[in-house]
Amino acid sequence: MSFTRKKENFVCEHCGHQVEGTGYTNHCPKCLWSKHFDIEPGDRAQSCGGLMAPIDVFYQSGEWVVVHECQKCGERRRKKITPEDDFDEVIRLERQINDKKVKG
Ligand SMILES: [Zn+2]
Ligand SMILES: [Zn+2]
Repeated sequence: MSFTRKKENFVCEHCGHQVEGTGYTNHCPKCLWSKHFDIEPGDRAQSCGGLMAPIDVFYQSGEWVVVHECQKCGERRRKKITPEDDFDEVIRLERQINDKKVKG
């Protein structure tokens, strides 16, 4: 099975940030929002195109992971945080989410 990484630049539909495609990520490094497109090998073509909100972020096995939820179809995806991502935003999100968890 062959898998070609696409390097596509895109404009974040959530914050308007110009995202430089690395071929490894399809989420915005500034606000961590993503779009519902399949970039994983073996996945069926996904044409949903909905915006995916970061709904959870946690540290696991030495890596930060963000969980995205599609605002259109509700599908959830896990994505590793990459060094390109704004880590301040990761921490901010984590605090915000944990605040919500504590307060219910
Ligand atoms: Zn953004
Ligand atoms: Zn979707």
